[in-house]
Amino acid sequence: MGHKDYENHALCAACGGACCRHMPGATHPSDWRDDLLSSLADALTSRRYAVDWREAERSDDAAVYFIRPVVSISPRYEPKPVIDGSWGGQCTFLTGVGCELPLIGRPLSCRAMEPREKMFGRGPEHCWAHASHRSILLAWKPHQSVIRVAARIALQRLGLPSWDREEL
Ligand code: SF4
Repeated sequence: MGHKDYENHALCAACGGACCRHMPGATHPSDWRDDLLSSLADALTSRRYAVDWREAERSDDAAVYFIRPVVSISPRYEPKPVIDGSWGGQCTFLTGVGCELPLIGRPLSCRAMEPREKMFGRGPEHCWAHASHRSILLAWKPHQSVIRVAARIALQRLGLPSWDREEL
């Protein structure tokens, strides 16, 4: 991907990581090892990443699956789901001192988010996303069957029932 990586500890600390508390960033296929299937199967088995999806926009479209970190949820709801189409929640990698991942290990949409000074007293929307969610979904489109198989492997390894969503 031709995106620059951005990191600004001072701005993100001042903001408190509003974007990371809002929703984890999406990974891009290029974020993973060459062996995409085994990378995804390992990541999903770790339960720190989940399969998420964007619903089909038209009736003749299919949903697009992608991989993102799981959200930190109440211990009451542990263990975290391997497949999670919910929206909103704090990223599992956010700590009290920022992201626990090194910059190079973060999802593309996180690395490509340019922190910017708050303007007009508004929230995190002043930061600039150089990788659109749509472009990331398009990049995942050719890898839908790999995600499907990786999810099955992870669910099997974890002794969890297979997901009943038809397309997966
Ligand atoms: S991976 Fe790191 S930078 Fe990305 S949303 Fe999670 S805590 Fe934030």
